[in-house]
Amino acid sequence: MPGADELAKVYRLLGPGGLPFASAARGAFGGNRRTKVYGRLDCSIALRHVARGTYAKSRVFFADEATARSAGYRSCSHCMKRRGDPAADVQ
Ligand SMILES: [Zn+2]
Repeated sequence: MPGADELAKVYRLLGPGGLPFASAARGAFGGNRRTKVYGRLDCSIALRHVARGTYAKSRVFFADEATARSAGYRSCSHCMKRRGDPAADVQ
């Protein structure tokens, strides 16, 4: 049986159109609300910004890439480069 804390755990993700919603599952991709770029959760550039404390307020999460794109976000050129997206930019 999961504990009360576990049951109450919800993640705030952005859905299609960039509208926030509560999800029981963690987001698979992170994004920057300010630069409109999304990337992997373990992206070294994103983690550097998080560590610096300048990113937390702008940090958003997506369940998948399709949702991130529909919300108007571009892929991070650092961790998503392999996809060859010409519009890619560093998150
Ligand atoms: Zn990245």
